[in-house]
Amino acid sequence: MKRSEVDRSKLSPMMQQYMDIKDQYDDTIIFFRLGDFYEMFFDDAILASRVLELTLTGKQAGLDERVPMCGIPHHAYASYVDELIDKGYKVAICEQLEDPKEVKGMVKRDVIQVITKGTRIDSNMDSKDNNYIANIYDFNYCFGVSYADISTGEVYATLVEGDNDKVIKEITRNGFKEVIVNDTIDREIVEKLRTNHEIMVSITKEEYEEKDYQYIYKNIEDVRIVKTLKHLLKYILDNKKGDLHHLQPCQIIKSSSYLEFDSNTMRNLELVETIRNRERQYSLLWLLDKCKTAMGSRFLKYSILNPLTSKEELERRYDFVSLLSTEFILRDDLITSLEQVYDLERLVGRITYGNLNAKDLIQLKNSVGALPRIKDILIQLKYDKKIDTFEEVYSLLDKSIEEDAPFTLHEGGLIKEGYNEELDELKRISSGSKDFILEMEKEEKERTGIKNLKVGYNKVFGYYIEVSKGQTSLVKDEFGWERKQTLSTGERFTTPVLKEKENIILGAEEKIVSLEYKLFMDIREVIKRYSKSLQQTARIISEIDMLQAFSIVSDNYKFVRPTLTDDKTIKLIDCRHPVVEQVMKEQYIPNDIVMDHTTNILLITGPNMAGKSTYMRQCAITVIMAQIGCFVPCKEATIPIFDKIFTRIGASDDLVSGESTFMVEMKEANYAIQEATENSLILFDELGRGTATYDGMSLAQAILEYIHDKIKAKTLFSTHYHELTVLEKDLKHLKNVHVSATEENGKVTFLHKVKPGAVDKSYGIHVAALAHLPDSLIKRADEILSVYEKKSVKKETFTQTSLFELTEQESTPKKNEVEEKIKEINPLEMTPMEALSFLYELHKNTKNNK
Ligand code: ADP
Ligand code: MG
Repeated sequence: MKRSEVDRSKLSPMMQQYMDIKDQYDDTIIFFRLGDFYEMFFDDAILASRVLELTLTGKQAGLDERVPMCGIPHHAYASYVDELIDKGYKVAICEQLEDPKEVKGMVKRDVIQVITKGTRIDSNMDSKDNNYIANIYDFNYCFGVSYADISTGEVYATLVEGDNDKVIKEITRNGFKEVIVNDTIDREIVEKLRTNHEIMVSITKEEYEEKDYQYIYKNIEDVRIVKTLKHLLKYILDNKKGDLHHLQPCQIIKSSSYLEFDSNTMRNLELVETIRNRERQYSLLWLLDKCKTAMGSRFLKYSILNPLTSKEELERRYDFVSLLSTEFILRDDLITSLEQVYDLERLVGRITYGNLNAKDLIQLKNSVGALPRIKDILIQLKYDKKIDTFEEVYSLLDKSIEEDAPFTLHEGGLIKEGYNEELDELKRISSGSKDFILEMEKEEKERTGIKNLKVGYNKVFGYYIEVSKGQTSLVKDEFGWERKQTLSTGERFTTPVLKEKENIILGAEEKIVSLEYKLFMDIREVIKRYSKSLQQTARIISEIDMLQAFSIVSDNYKFVRPTLTDDKTIKLIDCRHPVVEQVMKEQYIPNDIVMDHTTNILLITGPNMAGKSTYMRQCAITVIMAQIGCFVPCKEATIPIFDKIFTRIGASDDLVSGESTFMVEMKEANYAIQEATENSLILFDELGRGTATYDGMSLAQAILEYIHDKIKAKTLFSTHYHELTVLEKDLKHLKNVHVSATEENGKVTFLHKVKPGAVDKSYGIHVAALAHLPDSLIKRADEILSVYEKKSVKKETFTQTSLFELTEQESTPKKNEVEEKIKEINPLEMTPMEALSFLYELHKNTKNNK
């Protein structure tokens, strides 16, 4: 039975209430509170019962048929919500807003919060990762993008100029799981985010217009940024109905302050997860994360994804890292103190939002307790930012909150003795009367002579005297007992005295619980006033934690402080790939990467498996490490500050979007060529590999020339087209290097050593042999190779013209058509990319026409 097909007039009042609420939350699964359960109905019930493996039952609701229903106990809802969220659904919690005992008829109900991927704040969240919710606002010519982490209160915004692909790159680079968009957005973006990247997308119209949270965007002038923030806020506030004042004023991300790269580069370089398993282990983040706090780990991840471009700030970080390495005793001390600091950012979030328990406050106390020592160490190290120590917060929590308080706030046990007189008095009454009961047991035993009677207590029946079966005959009327309950093992009785005491105790206990709750809430209100400065301190702690981690890894793995230079030289002596070096069993071979200010391109040749890709990656990783303020895996390092990094590495087909390797390659090459400046770093690994030899080679050469003449970016270009090495003669900013291998008795050994000049042999067959292909097959390949080698002697001297000659020969059958097409164009008016795609089309047609 579907919800939409129901005759609503026949429904029971409760079911009508359900329908009205559900109307407002159409795309959301409603957890509808009914007494001790959350129930789901209709399509929600059918879906949830399948996803959560619950029994699907039915409920009488006034219709002929029963309405599909399934339910879960209210106290266990969290894990069910998590499961639905993980699977990409939204869940709305609909509560009873009145106490059923106190109202006649139906209780009021409403949704108190909607939980989604981007707005969850629960204990299941990965503490080492931020969880952002983002908004994209499409202004046709550019996009406003804003995002917030509700658990920590961080809010950011930026503008993305240009096309759909660029904004999608921005979203995927940051790993957002949920995005909201304005309703005039290009639907292509929505489709791509949903299907290619499995991001949850909601389309909204409304903007935040009230006053309460205006401080978040008050100081921002750019109306476009304000617009995206208002959309974001509206969505967040509609879903999370609690207090969200821990959200911080928005920080604007200016692209020029950060080293830019896209999600391909992030993936290719394995910055935060590996390509193969998509795991943190063996990524750069994994290697560097010696942070002691969850905040530090999150900040490190953020830094790796957003390296800096300010020389001043980087030098400041290097200074502190190097100081920590010299002052290692203080550093040890600092680390010990940091270990006591819990997740201050998320604690502040919970204090403001309200889902706080006493354990959180104990964590806050211990964290704050570590601050004076940290402050002291930082003063000794002449660190330039000041942290607060929150002595008042510490002493308040220290005298009020019980160390081993329970998770729930409604059972008492929260507040320490000595904090509140009224509470102490109530506790005296309650425990005093308990003593009385023990006393009473003793007295009654003596008075009645029943040896094994017991005075006990239970929640439902209160206090009682219990007599076991064998002795019930000894109970006499003159005792003045009243029968209360019959058990299989005996009888329970009560007395007037017991009843009176019971009332006092129960009354006191009830009062204790509610007084403790009230005191707890008051304490929370006081602490809330420190939210802003706690957040500031948390930020500084994150930075310090990250820098101590840098100092530790630099010592452990022998990293050096880089010299940042203003002239365009790269000089990395004995550079290593920091992760491969640690993970590899054999000795890692360090290599120099040297490009003086007249060299912009290194053309890298060498056999498969020689280490070309690794060499290129280690260069980019070194740059990124330097630009987050970390030392670098070299013996000596001089580098300029880069503005952007582009990579095209490996042949990873973009399977989801169904594009071929070659198309992806060309798109990425184009992206790099369009966006790179002379301050950028480009890594092109075997570009053109995805297509036939001759057009691949021509494209590679044309791209090299274009970068050489027009862009002048520092470029590492590996290739298996040995023919390209002759370019060194014509292109004066290009240098050949090669990775060597030795061959002995037909066996090849890789030395992984990069040397100047070109290599002339590919050793492909040797690699095949290493992979244990059958001997006879390898032999045959060798024979074929030698035939090819003889043939190719003629075209050994490769020049630009000879390339085109060859292409023409190949396409002789279609010569006329090709000629026609060539006549149509004017090469002088074409951009190199147009020329490339023209060539590509030409080749494709020729091939298809064969
Ligand atoms: P290519 O791109 O030339 O085919 P790769 O960079 O993929 O080669 O490296 C091939 C293998 O050689 C990898 O397994 C890598 O671990 C190893 N390797 C690469 N560079 C080095 C090095 N400098 N020292 C030791 N091993 C290396
Ligand atoms: Mg390679």
